[in-house]
Amino acid sequence: MRKRWIALIVVASLLLVAVGGAYWFGRSLFHMPTARGVDSVNAEVGGTRLLGVFAHPDDEQTVNGLFWRAKTQDGAYTAMITATRGEAGHQVPQVARQEDLGDVRKAEALRNSFNLGVDEHEVWDYPDGGVPDVPEDEIVDRLVKAMKRIKPDVVLAFWPETGATGHLDHMKMGELTEKAIAQIVEEGGAYAGPHHVLYSISPAVALSMFGGETGEFVAENQPDPEFAMAAETGKKMEGWEIHASQRDYLQSAYYLPAWLVYLLWDQEFYNVRDLATDPIE
Ligand SMILES: [Zn+2]
Repeated sequence: MRKRWIALIVVASLLLVAVGGAYWFGRSLFHMPTARGVDSVNAEVGGTRLLGVFAHPDDEQTVNGLFWRAKTQDGAYTAMITATRGEAGHQVPQVARQEDLGDVRKAEALRNSFNLGVDEHEVWDYPDGGVPDVPEDEIVDRLVKAMKRIKPDVVLAFWPETGATGHLDHMKMGELTEKAIAQIVEEGGAYAGPHHVLYSISPAVALSMFGGETGEFVAENQPDPEFAMAAETGKKMEGWEIHASQRDYLQSAYYLPAWLVYLLWDQEFYNVRDLATDPIE
């Protein structure tokens, strides 16, 4: 009888070590060693008005921790701009006629930002997958106009060289966001532009392991993040329910259920550009 107990304890301990080890290893794939953990990156840079500039509905899913905490902890005014309605997206699962997808995804984006407490959200109708073909000035002027109205002191943008995922729409929107900020500074009006730009950084090890060639490209061409903060994975799970046409996206991309991905990927990473010492030329 005693032997059986000892065997049971040994087996249970081994299992525990195996599960713990797998968790530790899995989690290390989604962590960035240069990043210092903080409560709120927005608070860290003194943000009171935060604007995020995105390319597609659901892009905000990767930075929802930043927005949720900026609103609920820092009391910041939060705003989002999404350049396209995501009409070219793949539905996982299919919830609508494909020709209605732009309308559906626009609604999903607006509902998700509402769920994050975002104060205002504009979803524009530039072509999904065709942002680089739109005349630059048109988007830059529109961004300038929006920023002058919203007056963000912190802007969240895609890193122009990688766009966080290597998507050309993301890269272009990152580039045009920087150009819009430079134009505002040059015009020298009453609103002098944001004092910080935050770039969302993707977990490099996981990306190069699971993201194929594009993942490797992104991992090698993005800057190191200075800050890490809680990803508010509960809000992300709610977000995928709201983005019903994209609900199974993580599962289809990583072959893992969303809850398991977020058990490991539980932080958001940000590179910070202080425009007072490092202005956009
Ligand atoms: Zn996107």
